[in-house]
Amino acid sequence: MIVRVSVDNAPANQLFDYKVPDELSGGISIGSRVTIPFAKRASASGIVVELPESSPFEGKLKSISALDSPSPTVLPSLVKLAIWMSKYYLATLSKSLETLLPAPVRNGRIHEKTMLYIDAAESFDETTLTKRQGELLADIRRVGGGWMRQLCEEFQCTATTLRKMADLGALVISERQQRRSPLRRGRIVPTKPLPLNNDQAIALSDITNALPSDADSFPQTPPKPILLFGVTGSGKTEVYLQAISNALERGLGAIVLVPEISLTPQTVMRFSSRFGDRIAVLHSALSNGERYDEWQRIRKGDARVVVGPRSAVFAPVEKLGLIVVDEEHEPSYKQEESPRYNARDVAVMRAHFEKCVVVLGSATPSMESWRNSSLGKYALSRLSARAAEGAAMPLVRVIDMNEENARSGRVNIFAKELLDAMHDRLQRHEQIILFLNRRGFSTSLTCPSCGYVETCERCDVPFTYHRADDCLRCHICGAWKRPPSACPSCSDAQFKFAGFGTQRVESIVKQCFPGARVARMDADSTSRKLSHDDILDAFKAGETDILIGTQMIAKGLHFPLVTLVGIINADSSLHIPDFRAGERTFQLLAQVSGRTGRGTLPGEVYVQSYTPEHPAVQMAKTENFEGFAKQELPLRSEMGYPPFVHLTCITLTGPAENLTESLMSKIRKTIIDKKPHGVVVSEVCPASLPKADNLFRFQVVLRGPNSLQMTETIKSTLEEHPISTPFRISVDVDAHSF
Ligand code: ADP
Ligand code: ZN
Repeated sequence: MIVRVSVDNAPANQLFDYKVPDELSGGISIGSRVTIPFAKRASASGIVVELPESSPFEGKLKSISALDSPSPTVLPSLVKLAIWMSKYYLATLSKSLETLLPAPVRNGRIHEKTMLYIDAAESFDETTLTKRQGELLADIRRVGGGWMRQLCEEFQCTATTLRKMADLGALVISERQQRRSPLRRGRIVPTKPLPLNNDQAIALSDITNALPSDADSFPQTPPKPILLFGVTGSGKTEVYLQAISNALERGLGAIVLVPEISLTPQTVMRFSSRFGDRIAVLHSALSNGERYDEWQRIRKGDARVVVGPRSAVFAPVEKLGLIVVDEEHEPSYKQEESPRYNARDVAVMRAHFEKCVVVLGSATPSMESWRNSSLGKYALSRLSARAAEGAAMPLVRVIDMNEENARSGRVNIFAKELLDAMHDRLQRHEQIILFLNRRGFSTSLTCPSCGYVETCERCDVPFTYHRADDCLRCHICGAWKRPPSACPSCSDAQFKFAGFGTQRVESIVKQCFPGARVARMDADSTSRKLSHDDILDAFKAGETDILIGTQMIAKGLHFPLVTLVGIINADSSLHIPDFRAGERTFQLLAQVSGRTGRGTLPGEVYVQSYTPEHPAVQMAKTENFEGFAKQELPLRSEMGYPPFVHLTCITLTGPAENLTESLMSKIRKTIIDKKPHGVVVSEVCPASLPKADNLFRFQVVLRGPNSLQMTETIKSTLEEHPISTPFRISVDVDAHSF
């Protein structure tokens, strides 16, 4: 028997063949983790990715030295996914396989944790015990045994006492595996399925009709992905929950992906309240032990539902029936290091390979998914109204900050109308959220009085301001120019960054409303592990009147008492040098507005804007996603942007500016010489972070109809120009940011 192995940390995409000694061959399959002799290393680890009939290798094959465990560590279906990922995202197979396994599982240093467990002996002559020992025995019988440590705490005794009682035969001590559970302690209140409204019932049956009828009858052809387009608060989560129950009843497993930022205890609680112990949670704040245990519970089939951020798409769930990608449009599904995958797209591929259902849910779908549904590649389900009784869409008012500033004769952070509304809510003891848009804060040059931003005419994206050489650059085509000395629109000479932060907003709010209880949530205030949850808990409990925050508070939170949302600087995300700026702004405004009016109290949103006529702002007023898409898609098509093309960004990092730039130019020329069909190649352009750690960074952006074709062109180009240290190259397929 021969196995083809991807060796851990192999620098190149090469696979190695090994013989399997007879005594090991019974347990070997695709996905097995093996120990092998490798080059000069005494031993290495690897994963079996193929079982070839014969090997083209001329010499004598070495034998594998050990097999890690009798069942494959990586599910064979996930090996297939990793192979796809390495081709599509131009990453080595070993790197892609590594991504499938959480570090504590991969490195083998963490093991199951066993602890001492105490049971009362079945029958025992209690007269031999002292009075205290007798009481303890009765207590332990009453609670039905427990961990030694807990019993000592609960019944105020020492381990020595318990051991003595075990010696006497009154207790039995054993070692048991203890699960390190990431769920917050505290009572989980079970919830029952809600009776669904009409829209929800249809959406649910769209999903359940596509599920395999049981764990042994997966269809021949994969079902179509389903785009669940439902306005904020329309009860998408309830649909997911009931679809998952349905899958479980059929013996199928499920994965729910949520953006890391909204993987709050609130979210986890909604799932664990419905599914209890059948849930496993994977996220970045887990300890290594917790991560190991959760992964093992999934691998063994003890947990059939997995909730987690993007990496949970690789959870080793067998007989997978359903993958849900909540907030499918979220940029955080994109991993910004190799393999630079997008978990939503990987979810669609995994569902395709495993012939299961994938549901992409959003109130503001990505242009990519929306177009796929119009082309009929995805099925579309809609939820068009808020689900909770009495809940309605909020009333959104857009405030023109140009007028506001002209009226008061100075630049204002708050419009008077918004301050008046805040005053009113505070008097009524209702809650307020103030949202500060952090995106695009210091990258573009913005006029403080009229909000004007310099834009590349060819590409219709704002220029990025490069402070180092006082220059404006377009990151799509590479054009550059000197920044104007005064604003071309209003002639204000104070053309500068729009720079104020949450702290500034907080101090103004405290000045204006000295009696209000104010909390701030942003990257600075939430660096401690728990404070994020603490701030939200306090707000939810009504201990805070005004919550000020950035993107962190935009997603998925549910506060019934919030009746006012103020969006301080709606436009700043319009000025990022990204053709998705309008889409991102629309999404953000819709999501933030979605935080109010979720209870029976009506909600109101004030949007402060310097570009009140922009479609992203106007359409967000009524959460009119379709209206926005109708404006946006023709523009994308005309400019040659995704979703009409794929976009790949190549970044070269190296010492000495001219060397790096000229190497990037050579690479660019080789790509162009290959004449890839329909591909537009940009000029060489310094990256938006042009210099870091004394290394220079240059970029080239490719746009074309077929992603794989571009990746293959790049791959063969890089074979002609091997990049070696100190140079580094990264290829970002379906790049989100440049
Ligand atoms: P979404 O995920 O679309 O933002 P949620 O699932 O969070 O929406 O639902 C919003 C609110 O509506 C929640 O409080 C939820 O309990 C409630 N809800 C959902 N479905 C129903 C229903 N069928 N009947 C009553 N309330 C519902
Ligand atoms: Zn340009």
